[in-house]
Amino acid sequence: MHDKYEQIPCNICGSLDFTVIYPSLPVENDDPVKRFKSSGDEPSRDQTVKCASCSLVYVNPRLKPEHIVGGYTEGSDERFVSQAKGRELTFNRQLEFIEKNFPSRGRILDIGTAGGSFLGVAKRRGWDVTGIEPNKWLCEWGRKNYGIDVKQGTLFDHKFPDNSFDCVTLFDVLEHVPDPTNVLAEISRILRPGGLLAVNYPDFDSFWSRMLKRKWVFILTVHLFYFTPETITRILQKTGFEPFVIKKHWQTLAFGYLASRFEPYSKLIAKVATKGVSLLGMSDWQVPYWLGQTLVLAKKK
Ligand SMILES: [Zn+2]
Repeated sequence: MHDKYEQIPCNICGSLDFTVIYPSLPVENDDPVKRFKSSGDEPSRDQTVKCASCSLVYVNPRLKPEHIVGGYTEGSDERFVSQAKGRELTFNRQLEFIEKNFPSRGRILDIGTAGGSFLGVAKRRGWDVTGIEPNKWLCEWGRKNYGIDVKQGTLFDHKFPDNSFDCVTLFDVLEHVPDPTNVLAEISRILRPGGLLAVNYPDFDSFWSRMLKRKWVFILTVHLFYFTPETITRILQKTGFEPFVIKKHWQTLAFGYLASRFEPYSKLIAKVATKGVSLLGMSDWQVPYWLGQTLVLAKKK
């Protein structure tokens, strides 16, 4: 085994016992910058295991964390940013839902904010917004396009004081970080008591995951953990949160972009679909879709 890789214990319960769910496949591309760019869409070839004690599903062995965060900080991502409009629609609906459950609003921190679309929408809806994003190019893009405060780096680079925020959001982030327990514990510290945490993640127990197995769109090289309603509840309770909503999270993307996302699975389907959608003049249509993404709301105890 290459020394860039490490064996890790379960991130929730510390157990070293596991069963293999998906065995590892030979790797062609071992460049972390390519593997961990923010919209990384390479199907995973890593060994994926399930903890024998608490059922957490995770990649083991995996690349060491120093190779992972380094990969996220560099590189530009025009294709990701080109979908800002679809993301704004998704985030508007999502904020409506969050505000229904948390009408007082206040100071919000979005971790892994990418191009800042979520905070751009939140600012218009009256929130006091702060973002954190490791990728330098995306930080700059968010500041320029939405006029928002985006801090470059990871959560741990910024050491916010206790009780700094009323709400923290983690969208498409928790499955990427090397130590989710540590991230949630830090959020618990900087969130005020009674504050709201909103997390979304691809549900490993969802219909699409069970149906497509290793071909499920979220089995990606950039994903290190695969949560279920059971394990997300366990890790949230362990770090001082009480989840009170777990529901399907519908997203919106342009049809043409969605069609092109088939490429890692079948170049032919992607080509035919992209072409067909384009001929019909539907490339820019915003379509809602659900492939297993799940939204959790939790209160800090
Ligand atoms: Zn475990």
